[in-house]
Amino acid sequence: MGMSPSMKNVKCPICKKPSVEKYRPFCSERCKMIDLGKWLGEAYSIPIASEDTKKEPQKLEDEND
Ligand SMILES: [Zn+2]
Repeated sequence: MGMSPSMKNVKCPICKKPSVEKYRPFCSERCKMIDLGKWLGEAYSIPIASEDTKKEPQKLEDEND
């Protein structure tokens, strides 16, 4: 497998340590997961502008008397 020379000295975007080929561009599985969590976190924290998309199913509380 030919490796592109520009990918040689990649630094981990999380902790800035030299990346490990196995976890590139991260230095470890830990940093990889941190980055993944970061992305997921951002995705979930995106504010929803439209109120219509914020529909929550209404709880139907049955009062069986
Ligand atoms: Zn790292």
